[in-house]
Amino acid sequence: MKICVYTLGCRLNQCESEAIADAFSKRGYAIVPDGQPADLYIVNTCTVTSKAEQKARRMIRKYAAEPQAQAVVVTGCYAQLDADQISILADRVVVLPLDKKANLLDFPEFLSVRLSEGFSPLEACRAFAGLDGDALSALHVGSGGNLTGQGEPSPFDYDAASFSYHCRAYLKIQDGCDNACAFCRVHVARGAAISLDGDEVVGRALALEREGFHEIVLTGVNLTMYDHRADGLGGLLRKLLAALGSDVRIRLSSLEPDHVDDRLLDQLTDPRMQPHFHVPVQSASDVVLARVNRRYDVEHLSHVIERMRQVKVDPFIAADVIAGLPAEGDAEFRETCEFFVRNQFAQMHVFPFSPRPDTPLFHATDRVPESVRDQRATVLRDLSARLHSEYVGRQGGRQLEAILEQRKKGSWYALTGNYLKVRLLDVPPLSSPGELVRVVMDPVGAGQVLPIARFIG
Ligand code: SF4
Repeated sequence: MKICVYTLGCRLNQCESEAIADAFSKRGYAIVPDGQPADLYIVNTCTVTSKAEQKARRMIRKYAAEPQAQAVVVTGCYAQLDADQISILADRVVVLPLDKKANLLDFPEFLSVRLSEGFSPLEACRAFAGLDGDALSALHVGSGGNLTGQGEPSPFDYDAASFSYHCRAYLKIQDGCDNACAFCRVHVARGAAISLDGDEVVGRALALEREGFHEIVLTGVNLTMYDHRADGLGGLLRKLLAALGSDVRIRLSSLEPDHVDDRLLDQLTDPRMQPHFHVPVQSASDVVLARVNRRYDVEHLSHVIERMRQVKVDPFIAADVIAGLPAEGDAEFRETCEFFVRNQFAQMHVFPFSPRPDTPLFHATDRVPESVRDQRATVLRDLSARLHSEYVGRQGGRQLEAILEQRKKGSWYALTGNYLKVRLLDVPPLSSPGELVRVVMDPVGAGQVLPIARFIG
């Protein structure tokens, strides 16, 4: 039976999808990529924007209409908040909200048993969705071992030991968020912040190192909220870096600015920390940040970016930015654009503001007209394209590290430490995906889309 896991949204969702795929693969199911026919589809959804939800609905309908598809199982943040809306999209859709997502890892075993008893895949999916908490706990085979309790199914059972869709390892160390940003539905869907115990994180990272991974991407809903009332993410990195060998790199998936402190910034000096930082800036106007209940100001943001530049040579600094947040006038928008230019960001992920149900901004009366919001989103995307090409343009001649990703039609592709996808030349025969190599970047010509690098060792 073929299984396809389709993921929308953040790296945390990608990490959880990997674990789901891993659980199916261990039980003998074949994992296929999107685009190849599957018998069972699992759609891991996101609720950050209305666009992400639209796309989820589109993919669910598309998969459900495929003649060979037996069932489409939908989980993730959107499924948590709008299960009723999703379950009526098509006949073969089965919704597993987030509170059942931790149990999804037990589903392959459950499915195998039910299939051997003569149930159809759809009947098995429906039976699984209908199980109550006690029945789900009785099924549970996960490892537990987290700050929130031992043995019970937990969000940290998502611990993929092999990765079907990536050759870098994703390690989930945090879930939930205690902030209440006025535009955000994710903290509503995911609940309060929880952290995986530090020793458990180290144990899992060492297991990934033994598996041969050369890069571990730490993920969470709000990574900087990791253990933030005690040693924080900085304390965890100190432990991890002390335990891991010299051939493993650590990438941080995303750094909410409010808990970035000196303890964390000090750890970034270690050469094993990848020179790539993704900061959900959202706006660089104090007026707007206060209006949407972000817990930092532009001075703090500037300090964080300045320190990142001090600890790494020309790091790839990316941002999330929301165009047209309430209270964003022309002056506030200008401040935001100037901030990105002044701090030489390498890329911005631009989201036009869309008021989300169940958030304080849903009924905001100081909203920016949609036409202005869309114009600003276009300005920001153009600015991002310019800053990105400037960033790539100044990498020519630099020696960097890279992870080999895939060989396609005779060409190798790799991801550099500073997050550039490159075509790699002169790769020795018998190289394989996941290897850590050194490369030198070619100068980038005008209009060249993919940078080229050469293998040097
Ligand atoms: S920091 Fe804000 S935007 Fe990020 S998950 Fe928490 S509440 Fe949502």
